[in-house]
Amino acid sequence: DIDVNEKYTFLKKIGKGSYGEVWLVLPNSPLSIRSQSKQLVLKRLDLRPSANSPSQNDIESAEREAKLLSTLKHPNIVAYIESFCSNDGCLNIVMAYCEGGDLYTKLKEKKAKKESLAEDQLIEWFIQICMALQYIHEKNILHRDLKTQNIFLTKHDIVKVGDLGIARALESASEFATTIVGTPYYMSPEIFSQKPYGQKSDIWALGCCVYEMTTLEHAFNAKDINALVIKILREQTPQMSKKYSEPLIDIIKSMLKKNPDDRPTAKQILQNSYIKQHILRLL
Ligand code: ADP
Ligand code: MG
Repeated sequence: DIDVNEKYTFLKKIGKGSYGEVWLVLPNSPLSIRSQSKQLVLKRLDLRPSANSPSQNDIESAEREAKLLSTLKHPNIVAYIESFCSNDGCLNIVMAYCEGGDLYTKLKEKKAKKESLAEDQLIEWFIQICMALQYIHEKNILHRDLKTQNIFLTKHDIVKVGDLGIARALESASEFATTIVGTPYYMSPEIFSQKPYGQKSDIWALGCCVYEMTTLEHAFNAKDINALVIKILREQTPQMSKKYSEPLIDIIKSMLKKNPDDRPTAKQILQNSYIKQHILRLL
């Protein structure tokens, strides 16, 4: 029987996740020299049957996130530490803390200051997100909820893709159909035409994120969900920012192609000559 308070000291609540609370914690006994006295994030889900007992769905997504995270190890994916059930009836998932917060907040701050993101910085982050996506796609896992709010930054501004709560392993070699999950702003056209969510749907979401990095606005936005769906399905590529280079804008446009087959894979993006130039610059 594990007492969570024996293992971790709770510092403060940093968020309310879709299925539970998100806490900043400190390990009581160093887990390893490396993580010694380092702040960590603990996501917990109360599994006890009670008035506000979690749905089977919440339990499954928490367990899935724990299980998936434990199999992933990549410099651009939030590092997993451990997960366990505690004697107070909670499922606890411990992961690295990203001190830089999320990209959504970062972009909001830029917008408030009427600043824009420098192309070199933008591409550096774009490359790191692509590397994370390439890694999970290679493992036949789909993120399914890629958005600027789920892209975290460390204090050194390294990108860490997180929140794999609804990520799933592809059940078979073929892509599977799903119920609508994720955030409407980032939903790809195929989702509304009963086509399966696949790797290219993650690429669409990535396109929306990079678009957001260039304009500080959602790629697709509308007053209500119906108008949003119509825009996603019909509107030709949204107005691009004039502040960025043509090759970058072309890549963003390619990720936002209506037909998933016309979008590049994460691997193809990393092989693009303009992107490769930047990778070389960063080495
Ligand atoms: P959900 O989107 O399902 O509600 P998240 O995993 O995105 O759950 O976590 C909710 C919030 O908690 C995030 O928006 C972020 O502010 C914070 N958070 C989650 N994980 C981390 C982390 N590893 N480092 C820093 N903040 C985090
Ligand atoms: Mg999230």
